[in-house]
Amino acid sequence: MDSAQDPFIADELLKCSRCGYCLSTCPTYRVTRDERFVARGRNELVRQVCEGQMGVLEELRDPLFECLLCGACSETCFGSVSTDEIMVRAREAWHQEHGQPRVQCLIFDQLLPDPQRMTRLMRLLSMGKRSGLSELAHRLGALRMISPTLDKADGLAREMPRRFLRDRLPAMGFSREKRGGVPVWRRQPGLDEGASGPVVAYFIGCGTNYQLPAQGEAALRLLGMAGCELLVFDNCCCGLPPYSYGDRAAARRLISQNLATFAAVEFDYLVSECGSCSAFVKKWPSVIGTGPDGDIAASVAERTRDFTELLPDLPLPRPGATPSVRVTYHDPCHLVRSQCIVEQPRRLLSDVAGVEMLEMRESDWCCGGAGSYNLTHPELSEAILDRKMARVRESGADILATACPACVVQLSREESEHPPIPVLHVSEVICQSMGIEIERP
Ligand code: SF4
Ligand code: SF4
Repeated sequence: MDSAQDPFIADELLKCSRCGYCLSTCPTYRVTRDERFVARGRNELVRQVCEGQMGVLEELRDPLFECLLCGACSETCFGSVSTDEIMVRAREAWHQEHGQPRVQCLIFDQLLPDPQRMTRLMRLLSMGKRSGLSELAHRLGALRMISPTLDKADGLAREMPRRFLRDRLPAMGFSREKRGGVPVWRRQPGLDEGASGPVVAYFIGCGTNYQLPAQGEAALRLLGMAGCELLVFDNCCCGLPPYSYGDRAAARRLISQNLATFAAVEFDYLVSECGSCSAFVKKWPSVIGTGPDGDIAASVAERTRDFTELLPDLPLPRPGATPSVRVTYHDPCHLVRSQCIVEQPRRLLSDVAGVEMLEMRESDWCCGGAGSYNLTHPELSEAILDRKMARVRESGADILATACPACVVQLSREESEHPPIPVLHVSEVICQSMGIEIERP
């Protein structure tokens, strides 16, 4: 790590006055009470490396990789120090020194860029899950022998869908065609849906497609009802997972692959109901840098909207009020901080779904999901989740709504003496209130 070579790190570290305000809102510090696990301490360690006081030691792994990248510290910080971004670059340096786990390289380089290979693997996992084979393998310890991460992932995915979101497109009125030489799924709005809406390129995130297709189906149905012409591309992963783990080169490759597809077709908006995908697509220009891809990334990012951001601006029939349903809302970090989306999902729930909204305390605190954080740091993730779920119960709500698949998975995993609370994406709550049936799981 060399701040002379990375002026961004040098500038950000300079802004940290070591005041300690970040101690009050950092979820990992609130659990560990350890200075190494808060922005001030993490930045201090990076500073010592940059100033040559120590090397990129193996021992730095926990402070660097146990950061949730939630951004809560930057919000509290007078200097708005981008600790999350410093962590990404420090992780990259750590990998350069100590290497990346092989399974991680395999996922980033072989699986995420290849949706067909990814789909084949997920079908196998889904079949194993639904037939009970994976449960047996888990009990016998076979999954752990293959990979401890795979074993934990299997435990987190309580159920896997029979049909992924892409499998459902034909039944939802999509047909296959070519646009600008690129194969797309296209759905023309019906006359009863109004045919003058915007052309929406819908970005299917990996979590939505393979694990929570119901929330994507709900979002697509609502966009169609609002008069949008819908295009679904054969996009690959948005690049956020490798980026978060500090593999910026792998993230750039995924972005470039997606840009080659999106550049060929005209559309008004690129939309995702996955708050993490929409946030990261908006960040593509800063990740990809300048050059021809940079211009395309800027053009795509400018037209990108989160589903909860675009839907309030579109005409949707208002169902009758359903105030007997009480809903509380968890703000995903990638919506509330990365995209400043706060009011829109709440407005959709109260005005469009017509439910009674109950605010919970600390609704914008990270739930501990943070992509695959619950796989890599299960104990810490669970402790952070405990605090969140206490707030949810305190609210008295019947349903917990949110807007990101990673949060849905995390918030649904609580195993406790308390009765479980249904966790739904905002799109699903709206569809429920309108009586629109969505295939699940
Ligand atoms: S990161 Fe910000 S809030 Fe935390 S110690 Fe540094 S200046 Fe203060
Ligand atoms: S990004 Fe989140 S977890 Fe990381 S230091 Fe900041 S507040 Fe703590």
